[in-house]
Amino acid sequence: MRFTLPFFLFVCAFGLAQDYYPKDYFGNPLDVTLVLSGSFAELRSNHFHSGLDIKTQQREGLKVYASASGYISRIKISHYGYGKALYITHPNGYTTVYAHLQKFSPEIETYIKKLQYEKESFEIEVFPNTEELIVEKGEVIAYSGNTGGSGGPHLHFEIRDNQERPINPLLFGFDVKDTTLPVIKEVYAYPMDKHSYVNKSNEKQKLRLLSLPNGDYTVENIQAYGKIGFAIESTDRQDLAYNNNGVYNIQAFFNGNKKIDIDFKRFSFDETRHLNRFIDYGHYKTKKERLQKLFIEPNNPLSIYKDSDNYGFIRVEDSTSSVYKVAVKDFKNNTSWLTINIEGKKEQDFKVKDSFVSSYYIHADKTNELLYNHISVEFYPETFYDDFYMDFSVSNDTIKLHDDTIPVKKHFKITYDISHYDSADAHKLYIARLVGYKQHPWYSNTTKEKNLMYTITDDLGTYALVTDTIEPTIRPINFKDGQWLSKYRYLKVKIDDEGSGISNYRATVNGKWILMEYDYKTKTLTHDFNDGIITETKNNLKVIVTDNVGNNSTFETTFYRK
Ligand SMILES: [Zn+2]
Repeated sequence: MRFTLPFFLFVCAFGLAQDYYPKDYFGNPLDVTLVLSGSFAELRSNHFHSGLDIKTQQREGLKVYASASGYISRIKISHYGYGKALYITHPNGYTTVYAHLQKFSPEIETYIKKLQYEKESFEIEVFPNTEELIVEKGEVIAYSGNTGGSGGPHLHFEIRDNQERPINPLLFGFDVKDTTLPVIKEVYAYPMDKHSYVNKSNEKQKLRLLSLPNGDYTVENIQAYGKIGFAIESTDRQDLAYNNNGVYNIQAFFNGNKKIDIDFKRFSFDETRHLNRFIDYGHYKTKKERLQKLFIEPNNPLSIYKDSDNYGFIRVEDSTSSVYKVAVKDFKNNTSWLTINIEGKKEQDFKVKDSFVSSYYIHADKTNELLYNHISVEFYPETFYDDFYMDFSVSNDTIKLHDDTIPVKKHFKITYDISHYDSADAHKLYIARLVGYKQHPWYSNTTKEKNLMYTITDDLGTYALVTDTIEPTIRPINFKDGQWLSKYRYLKVKIDDEGSGISNYRATVNGKWILMEYDYKTKTLTHDFNDGIITETKNNLKVIVTDNVGNNSTFETTFYRK
């Protein structure tokens, strides 16, 4: 039994580590006051925000410092997402992440450019070993920017544990001035079965919020009966900025008993998409408000629930009076309370909603296949959270797959048999999702295999086969054919594609590949002459751009330098 004691100690230490966060290990990655344009676990499209978005005074180019000593363990450059991103692994097992960077420090810039030229690709991902790029706490590692899917200059900063789970950086002692109370913007009550109702209705009810002078909230008293759940829309603002960020903790109590406790300390990337199960997804799609459900339905794999009683649902009996309270907190423990007084009243007649019925009933836990002539749609088990009647119809090559108000848990596959198209036409086809009021075709990643064409997608909605015969466009931005560019730092070209969109681009000078950085937001390709690749006086620039169905364009020009 001599192993018992050490093993027990190990378990204890591990247990402690779960909730211990060193408070002065990590330093501010910028030398400006921390003002956030985004908070940890803030509700975003299909994900919880995995870090802090730190404001950079509406500018790019601020020095970004290593938050603690360690080694650069990953460098990733992508057109979308994080843009230019650096990862530092620290001796204590945590990793810090810095994203949307404008450029890296000279040493890292040299390291990554060499690899980009070897691979002939702007997009790249590398995992340097522990000895290659060692950094000290406070060392400049990069400059802040707006690359990738960033909607304005800022630094996205993350701290991950040794299992790649993002943790709320504020737990590590970063201080953000906040004496401002969280705000509750909407409250809804949900009758959960056909015997339940709120204010004589079996449908979800918006409750009219009343703000109290001390910052708390109440609603007009409600009458209810049966199994009920609630949802709120809540946000938090900090003192030094006007934008709304996410809250830190939400608790609800029924007659003084805790019903649910939701906190945003840590999550894993595997679960982040299930944000769509936490919010009322259909409500979000139709009203753009993210209602946070204070109850847990089946098939909800989220780890944000610290505690719950009967999954957060309450049961209201006839002739009772009860009170439901919600406490919304920010990281600094500023707390807003909402009080809902409930009169239990059993009604003889109340409105029951008519639900949509079709001949396509989807069982969430089974494989479901929809077939129609040359089209098939396959849903694997657990593609959806709930069973439902699918609104499915086909007209020519357009498929109506319900609408996007039902969240998709896992991707599914749409396949077209295109053997009735002649091969010239078939080459120009792609699968598109028709979005918005104008039913604009949006390229859905399409694969062709013999006579089949398929896409794997995670949105319901309307899909169609669309033809793209239009070639991409390429035009110079800051120079003309035959021009001397000796004093120029950059070579800029605008590329665009109507229809299926740009799939790839390639630029050469006198036959040699040159690095051109692509920014999809400005549709610009930029070459930096400081790369030192262009050494001759007369230069022939050739840019080839290909769209997603394979249409391509070539642009050629001559410029001079000495
Ligand atoms: Zn961010």
